[in-house]
Amino acid sequence: NTPVETREFQAEARQLLQLMVHSIYSNKDTFLRELISNASDALDKLRLETFRDKDLQADTSDLHIRLDVDRVQRTLTVRDNGIGMSRDDVVNLIGTIARSGTAEFLRKLKEAKDAAASQDLIGQFGVGFYSSFMVADKVVMVTRRAGEEQGTRWESTGDGTYTLEPAEDAPQGTSVTLFLKPEDTEDQLFDYTAEWKLKEIVQRYSDFITWPVRLEVERKDAEGKTTREVETINSMKALWARSKDEATEAEYKEFYKHISHDWNDPLETISLKAEGTFEYQALLFIPSHAPYDLFMRERKRGVQLYVKRVFIMDNCEALMPEYLRFVKGVVDAQDLSLNVSREILQQDRQIELMRRRLVKRVLSTVKTMMSENPERYATFWREFGAAVKEGLLSDTENRGAILNIASFASTHDADKPTTLREYVDRMKDGQEHIYYMTGASRSVIESSPHMEAFQAKGFEVLVLTDPIDEMWVDSVPEFEGKRFQSIAKGEVDLDSEEKAETEQQNEEFAALLSWLTTRLKDNVKEVRLSSRLTTSPACIVGDAHDLTPTLEKMYRAMGE
Ligand code: ADP
Ligand code: MG
Repeated sequence: NTPVETREFQAEARQLLQLMVHSIYSNKDTFLRELISNASDALDKLRLETFRDKDLQADTSDLHIRLDVDRVQRTLTVRDNGIGMSRDDVVNLIGTIARSGTAEFLRKLKEAKDAAASQDLIGQFGVGFYSSFMVADKVVMVTRRAGEEQGTRWESTGDGTYTLEPAEDAPQGTSVTLFLKPEDTEDQLFDYTAEWKLKEIVQRYSDFITWPVRLEVERKDAEGKTTREVETINSMKALWARSKDEATEAEYKEFYKHISHDWNDPLETISLKAEGTFEYQALLFIPSHAPYDLFMRERKRGVQLYVKRVFIMDNCEALMPEYLRFVKGVVDAQDLSLNVSREILQQDRQIELMRRRLVKRVLSTVKTMMSENPERYATFWREFGAAVKEGLLSDTENRGAILNIASFASTHDADKPTTLREYVDRMKDGQEHIYYMTGASRSVIESSPHMEAFQAKGFEVLVLTDPIDEMWVDSVPEFEGKRFQSIAKGEVDLDSEEKAETEQQNEEFAALLSWLTTRLKDNVKEVRLSSRLTTSPACIVGDAHDLTPTLEKMYRAMGE
């Protein structure tokens, strides 16, 4: 007699579910990682909530995750006694996909050429809870939010709808029961009721989870009687607290996947320990590809803060500058209060020192990568270079280090970007500046009349096409004493011999030039002779201090 309400999944959620039901993943085991990861997050949240709200009526005496198997019903239940969800939470968090990138994800998925490409995308976006439907044809979730009386029961078969009803006597936290697909139980490899299978998955994907993951196992005693006992099947060792030789490459990779929700391996792992007055450990990762939202406004930073092994917050902006927002990882500080807030962190001197050290380590790691593993470096720069260049503006302290790890497209070799060091080494005798041109694309730049004289004389020109390039070239004065000089701005001194000739010509054409300047005064500041052009009759140049056309457009779009 309790009211059962049937609701529809939001359209995007429905599409995603369809994908899961017709499982295009090759690796279905990862559903358990997602559920355990949610349970672990829920326990973290409960602990934090009890720090903040002393009046919260919550039981925190034995926080854990538990797996229960029913071999007869063929169900697997993942249970936690964490924060739980209210009825509204369930509707908002499970019935819809709140994550901003989902529409983008589905669009890209339609473009994906094959299964491998789709899988790669799913790895990037992460499907979380819905991955249950890869292995289950029905999922029942019972949940009660800590501090609330009433629990909620949610059920769905992964088609377009789900049901909600009040649940009596629901314990605090969440349990997710999967009714396993019959086809999977025939294959030993996919028998998610088997003890060995569950142990194997947990140890592979979730060993470092800081909460115990318990499994009730059946044992036959000496008389052949079946008894049940509960075992903790993960080691719970905080990976970042171990020294580098105590952890394996595989463990680092799994840990990365856990915190980043990325299914690909990281490009680079950085582990760091500071001892002394302010003690901390850091384990940072550089992903192997840029997230889809790297340049979206609401993009979060990827470093989590722990205090003495206790999770405190995600995307801790005080630990990583914005231009390194793609770096993922964990920092565990020993001497902070568990109540520390974002505001306090922003002003804390120790945190500031910590951030500076982390930044230097990330930059020096890329520097090393450059010389020891050029291919990996090329991947890094292709994926993250445009973000890193923002640091040329925002992080003047590390400007030199950033210029040293940067590379740019250039006219020297269309296929291979050049570093500034290599550019300088190739500079011609008497060349004083590093020449560049900014523009929307390589072809626009190459077909520009400004390029003609430079190409004719064999000068190398950097081809800068990222929007951020317009900005930093104006504020970075030089590299190794060489100024950056736009070939589209101001006077460009190609050859001093030509100067005399130009002066003479200027006199000859003085009358024409002043006539043209007057005629065109509404549109241009000045008309002058140029040594830039070889085949085009005329071109428009910006004054040395003018905005470039792209910047002008940007400012106009911003309404300035
Ligand atoms: P994500 O974990 O990336 O946010 P999921 O699909 O895995 O995405 O989960 C969606 C949301 O549902 C979570 O962010 C969380 O708020 C909520 N949720 C899922 N599982 C649990 C759980 N066991 N306890 C509490 N909340 C949960
Ligand atoms: Mg999740």
